[in-house]
Amino acid sequence: MQKMNTIPVQIGSQIIGGNDFVVIAGPCSIESAPHFEQVSHAVKNSGAVVLRGGIFKLRTHPDSFQGMGFNAFEVVKTIKHKTQMPFISEVTDPRQITDLLDVVDAFQVGSRNMYNYDLLKELGKTSLPVMLKRGFSGLIKEWLLAADYIVRGGNEKVILCERGIRTFETATRNTFDLNAVAYLKQNCQFPVIADPSHATGASSLVTPMALAAAAAGADGIMVEVHPLPSQALSDGFQALNFTEFDQLMEKIKSLLPVLSKKMATSIGEL
Ligand code: PEP
Ligand code: MN
Repeated sequence: MQKMNTIPVQIGSQIIGGNDFVVIAGPCSIESAPHFEQVSHAVKNSGAVVLRGGIFKLRTHPDSFQGMGFNAFEVVKTIKHKTQMPFISEVTDPRQITDLLDVVDAFQVGSRNMYNYDLLKELGKTSLPVMLKRGFSGLIKEWLLAADYIVRGGNEKVILCERGIRTFETATRNTFDLNAVAYLKQNCQFPVIADPSHATGASSLVTPMALAAAAAGADGIMVEVHPLPSQALSDGFQALNFTEFDQLMEKIKSLLPVLSKKMATSIGEL
């Protein structure tokens, strides 16, 4: 099967799906202004080119931290200005779209919302890129049909993100479907990002699986990073600390030439 040509999608200044490998990094949730500032600078220094950070969190347990919500908006604006990095965050409800347009360069649709067709239709009316995560029980076919809801709304800027699926295996949080990454590169034109953080749920597995995702043909990865993972308000067990993230970046940089790719670089100084 021939590789299908990827149609690149731009998040801010960064091209996703071109020849450069893009690393999106940041905390699972933005926890405070100093916290997000610290993480942003660290990931930028290590070579990440797009920032992530959860503002509205969909948590399994209603007592878990639900995100800073609108209180994070000013924090994000300040950090974006300081780092000059594009920013992606999850939209969990169509009513957030108008406000989020003020702070995000791309919308993330989380795994729990891949089947939320009303949300996808609304995002189809926007002009910002949408990174559509795979539902944890989503067939590739259903995932591509979900993407079609956004495209048919008039927004062709869709990026797919493989974040692991539920299988009979319980040793890891999810099963990373790298078949899907290679398959999508051959069978669709959307750029593909891999998320080894949610796919494994274990920080020690993130680096090997990030490298495997690059080898499988992913256009980039999204990785959760925290200054002190054991203290994180969400997903601490899968977050890399700054040293681990830096070491991951070095390993990817060594691998990319073998794949005839190179690391995307950031504009803007710290
Ligand atoms: C996230 O990226 O923080 C997230 C909630 O991911 P998912 O929707 O894949 O669980
Ligand atoms: Mn998370």
